[in-house]
Amino acid sequence: MLKVENVTKYYGDFKAVDNLSFEVQDGEIFGLLGVNGAGKTTTFRMIIGLLDKTEGKITLDGKKIDYSQTDKIGFLTEERSLLTKLTVEEQVIYYGVLKGLNEKTIKKRLDIWLDRFHIKEYKNKKIKELSKGNQQKIQFITAIINEPKLLILDEPFSGLDPINVEQFMEVIKELKKKGVSIIFSSHRMEHVELFCEKLVILVHGKSVLEGSLKEIKKAYRKKNIHIKAELDIEKIKKITGVVNVEQTAEDYIVKIESDDYIENVWNELKKCKNVTEFRVEDPTLNEIFVSKVGVGYEN
Ligand code: ATP
Repeated sequence: MLKVENVTKYYGDFKAVDNLSFEVQDGEIFGLLGVNGAGKTTTFRMIIGLLDKTEGKITLDGKKIDYSQTDKIGFLTEERSLLTKLTVEEQVIYYGVLKGLNEKTIKKRLDIWLDRFHIKEYKNKKIKELSKGNQQKIQFITAIINEPKLLILDEPFSGLDPINVEQFMEVIKELKKKGVSIIFSSHRMEHVELFCEKLVILVHGKSVLEGSLKEIKKAYRKKNIHIKAELDIEKIKKITGVVNVEQTAEDYIVKIESDDYIENVWNELKKCKNVTEFRVEDPTLNEIFVSKVGVGYEN
């Protein structure tokens, strides 16, 4: 288990991380979210010991993270750090040896992963000859070649096409099942929503929202009602508790202040024609993010 307790980081006079605490259990996927400059990378770097913290405590399985522990950590950095003149095999061996593995083990594991990612033919190719997506696969393999207990993924999906995102997610879920603690950042809320169980949202290095995704959604009382019917939008907008009505290609989304107002909308809808759908949903994580942070998550 990773435990971050009351961690603060100053760069000179600037406070980049402010009294941050969270835990990531074994076999848990944890999202560290926030807009650009919120303090995510700084937090990751403190966890792996690349940066000193100003205050606080970080432990993995109860122990301070020093050299004996870093062999158990895998880190996919945001600024990709591949040695582009090396071949795929040379690169993975280089990092694997740094993590204390012998060459035979690295080669065996590498073959399995290359096969898994359908890129066996690139083993002896130079990294610089690979496409961006394939380079990212190599970076990912490098991060997990030591079979880490803790896996840190800084923007793992950036630049990947949907098929590759799916492949990465599958592997990440498998690692979770094996008990790996996984902590990641992503700007894509729909990815976070798909497989993240717990999260923290940072604003200026400070947590503004934390907990399990389920609880966060439950506690956030605003709801979206999806409706398919012949609607008079202006009438619906006037109902007490209705915040807004959006029309999509599929349906209408009536946004309400809280679940107390569902009945108001239902009563109005009974007067409408051709009603084929009335579905109440929790808001998306992106909506919650925007309401907490005040801006969207787009870069
Ligand atoms: P992004 O999503 O853009 O990667 P982030 O959430 O990872 O952002 P950090 O890179 O941790 O954010 O930066 C947090 C804050 O600390 C930013 O305001 C950044 O400018 C500042 N910062 C980061 N590194 C340094 C440094 N070496 N010296 C001074 N300030 C820094």
